[in-house]
Amino acid sequence: EKFKQGLTKTRDSFAGRVNDLIARYRKVDEEFFEELEEILISADVGVTTVMDLIDELKMEVKRRNIQDPKEMQEVISEKLVEIYRGDDEEYEKSAALNIQKDGLTVILFVGVNGVGKTTTIGKLAHKLKTEGKTVMLAAGDTFRAGAIEQLEVWGERVGAEVIKQSAGSDPAAVVYDAIQAAKARRVDVLLCDTAGRLQNKVNLMKELEKVKRVIEREVPGAPHEVLLVLDATTGQNAMSQAKIFKEATNVTGIVLTKLDGTAKGGIVLAIRNELHIPVKFVGLGEKMDDLQPFDPEKYVYGLFA
Ligand code: GDP
Repeated sequence: EKFKQGLTKTRDSFAGRVNDLIARYRKVDEEFFEELEEILISADVGVTTVMDLIDELKMEVKRRNIQDPKEMQEVISEKLVEIYRGDDEEYEKSAALNIQKDGLTVILFVGVNGVGKTTTIGKLAHKLKTEGKTVMLAAGDTFRAGAIEQLEVWGERVGAEVIKQSAGSDPAAVVYDAIQAAKARRVDVLLCDTAGRLQNKVNLMKELEKVKRVIEREVPGAPHEVLLVLDATTGQNAMSQAKIFKEATNVTGIVLTKLDGTAKGGIVLAIRNELHIPVKFVGLGEKMDDLQPFDPEKYVYGLFA
């Protein structure tokens, strides 16, 4: 239900246009594919992914000898899911959040300012708490004005302790403190916020590297996840951010926020197909329970439902 509501914009434009296309055509021909291609590109599916998808669709149409456009909704849905899932085995391994059964799980959040990093940490903390886990937050964004306070508000709201230092302090030191506190209090999951000023790319990446080294040193096997937060409304900008962060650090998953605020939900497919990073969660609003695990079947079939 949440999923369906949050995708209203994408459904109305993207799926609406596909359905309209299907209704207008008598047969599946070259022109049909050309129009479909344009719809997919304008939904931010990404040119490379669209090309892959159109090729796959043409092959399927030939294989099944499909003439009637009405049969295409099902084929398009199938292929969208297939493109997203890619290699099934790899997909199954990477789709779920890596939470340790015993001992401390450390999750590092990275991403540019304003994408919804702090909000996502709050939402995920809430989700983990409802699953019975104890959660602690590390205020590692010591750079953005108000970031520490914002995280404290979330901490209070969801009932998670926040470990912080003063603004401008070393994020690696904050994370170090938080790890010690988490170990002492036997916390299950530590969520670490970081700064996101991409204007100074080299410094930011150095800072992230340092935070990561501290985590690796203090907790063997950690960080268990490095989640890159991206804003779905920024389209191809989000793609280029993903490329930069992927080069700089070992991103294990993506949280795509503000999917409720865009008609261009196709970015999910582009990220997965072009960067091979799974989208682990999507943000569908500003409230505490507006974070949903990403399920490609639910997503695609939800669009056409
Ligand atoms: P940060 O700078 O990356 O930490 O970004 P914030 O967490 O402060 O979020 C920036 C703005 O985006 C805030 O107003 C959030 O309420 C809003 N936001 C975050 N996630 C979502 C989402 O999934 N949907 C919507 N509509 N707004 C969101």
